Amino acid sequence: MGRHGIIENHSSIDVNELNRLGAFGRATIAYPYVGLRLPSLSIMRTNYSAIEVQFAKDKRWQSITIRWTRCHFGGQRPWLECPCGRRTGKLYDSGFCFGCRQCLNLIYESQRRGANVRRYLRLLKLRARCGGSSSITEPFPSRPARMCEKTYLQLRSRAALLEMELRRSRRFMKKARNYALRATAKAIHRPSSHHINLTACYRLHERIEARALLAPLGP
Ligand SMILES: [Zn+2]
Repeated sequence: MGRHGIIENHSSIDVNELNRLGAFGRATIAYPYVGLRLPSLSIMRTNYSAIEVQFAKDKRWQSITIRWTRCHFGGQRPWLECPCGRRTGKLYDSGFCFGCRQCLNLIYESQRRGANVRRYLRLLKLRARCGGSSSITEPFPSRPARMCEKTYLQLRSRAALLEMELRRSRRFMKKARNYALRATAKAIHRPSSHHINLTACYRLHERIEARALLAPLGP
């Protein structure tokens, strides 16, 4: 998992955005402020058939081929061609070249968290809506006075499904037990205030939990 880069951390060239800006006409267009948007570049030029970029660091050039395909409803749409030959809407900056998601081994932040962590975060949200007892090791909170019965039952059954999935993973449950109570205690017992801010509580919880749960299990 750790070998993957995170897409959100890489700036990218988006072919549809450029197309909307009229980048792919007959005339070649230069972008004087490209460095503001794509910091590793000093020059970018576009026309109908290619995007030429120059890297600021070593003045190297890369030429990105534009491929056009017909749309169902008429007209054409452009694609970027990665050096690997794949056709894609976006190419990402590795600092050394622009490449597709597969070539640069990039994944979305949400994919980095394993399926169980995502389930767990959804579960925390459901619990927070019902009054904030957010640890999976405690029973689901009872219905808050202001919440209607139907909503509560929906939330509870959704949570139950998520919990069922999570409990199937012994490895996950071990982690959850180790960290959940500590994180909850930190988030809720703020000495300066008796008021529990659920949103803040959840956010803090999410951060602590996500980090803790992604850490490898100790020996
Ligand atoms: Zn590629």
